[in-house]
Amino acid sequence: MENKLKELKTRLAEVSDLGAAGAVLGWDQATYMPPGGASARGRQMATLGSIAQAKFTDAAIGHLLDELEPWAAQQPADSDDAALIRKTRKDYDKQVKVSADWVSRANLHIAETYQAWTEARPANDFKSVQDALKVTLDLSREYADFFPGYEHIADPLIDGPDPGMKAASIRSVFSELRNELVPLVQAITSQKEADDSSLRKSYPEKKQLDFGIEVAKDYGYDFNRGRQDMTHHPFCTTFSITDVRITTRVQRKYLADALFSTLHEAGHAMYEQGVNMAYEATPLAGGVSSGVHESQSRTWENIVGRSRGFWEHYYPKLKAAFPTQLKGVGLDKFYRAINKVERSLIRTDADEVTYNLHVMLRFDLELQLLEGSLEIKDLPEAWHARYKSDLGIQAPSDVDGVLQDVHWYGGLIGGAFQGYTLGNIMSALFYDAALKAHPSIPGEISKGEFDTLHTWLRENIYQYGSKYEPDDLIQRVTGGPLRIAPYIKYLRTKYGELYKL
Ligand code: ZN
Repeated sequence: MENKLKELKTRLAEVSDLGAAGAVLGWDQATYMPPGGASARGRQMATLGSIAQAKFTDAAIGHLLDELEPWAAQQPADSDDAALIRKTRKDYDKQVKVSADWVSRANLHIAETYQAWTEARPANDFKSVQDALKVTLDLSREYADFFPGYEHIADPLIDGPDPGMKAASIRSVFSELRNELVPLVQAITSQKEADDSSLRKSYPEKKQLDFGIEVAKDYGYDFNRGRQDMTHHPFCTTFSITDVRITTRVQRKYLADALFSTLHEAGHAMYEQGVNMAYEATPLAGGVSSGVHESQSRTWENIVGRSRGFWEHYYPKLKAAFPTQLKGVGLDKFYRAINKVERSLIRTDADEVTYNLHVMLRFDLELQLLEGSLEIKDLPEAWHARYKSDLGIQAPSDVDGVLQDVHWYGGLIGGAFQGYTLGNIMSALFYDAALKAHPSIPGEISKGEFDTLHTWLRENIYQYGSKYEPDDLIQRVTGGPLRIAPYIKYLRTKYGELYKL
């Protein structure tokens, strides 16, 4: 059995290496590649994707799993090897259903569509990507149809990023959350708007980036195993547990953009860097779901990075970096500015309270597109209508409307957005458990010390990579199922104080 396990791991490492090579190409495409490289790059990524798919779905892997499963069933429940076989079986059974032809068509199409989007967005030209999006929707439906027997056509698409979650259960959690959020947003926005003009002065780009990197290092993001580069739409990508990279963008006239995007992506990266090294190059490496991943980026961006305690320590440093821009702006005013709640157009700039409204409307639009009750050509108008009804505002163009997010242009339609709000809910759930174990954490944060929190997260969440499915992980860490109460309590406490509700 040991030899068979070794052979399985060797084969899985090859698949992982091909995936990592594809990720390097994707990272380069989104950072340094000249536009002329687009079509060759699309082809190269499709080639690597097809080879990885063929290697992973090789019948030899199926045979090895058949032979290893009886042995794995006798291992202790907590065994890493048993978990590896379980997880590989699940991924294998899924992938053998997807045709190699679909994979290569989808990879090529998505790479081309991404490139088209980088041109369509600044030109406010939805029409130029409309036909490509239609193909994306067809490809997404085709993918779902590899898994007949689903309850909702979005379920197979959601199961990839958020294993175990279904459209129906997410709809139900989201509607519970919406019922809490709508009155909270109403109560806050009926008050005088917070003044965030201090964030919109002229802040030299390099100094902004340096400050963000300093905080990310203090958090514990290991730059010996990572780096930060510039892109259109910030993301984190993993080539190995020992090479996890983040990207950001910077606006001279808006201090919050680069800073909080760096803290956000650093949270993703710390999760990936914290995975048990024994899982390297196996399906257990890497975060378990988009929801759990987002819970970690949100923890470091919001729960820590937008807390008053955090800024008690860092605001004097920020003022030292930007003495003229922040002259006369006290800590309280700055704290209110970075936590300003408003009905706004851009998801990635949205505050903690309204953010989930942005996500939930995208989730609904995805379901409608997949169900066939909404057509791609009507998407821009449907988008504007939902912003009007849910947030009370309308974008002047598609640039800040349907063209704003990369997801549908750089991936499939379905499963792309729910993870953000699931992550917000989980971030408070996990943080609550960390505080129960270590009530000293908030005091440490206000001294710029993050070791206790980082270590707790590494020991309870990061190290396990994809060993436990999200529901199991939540049960293990918090002693109960996914629930919104801690998140609602967090928002009510913080914004109740800020807005004297
Ligand atoms: Zn994120």
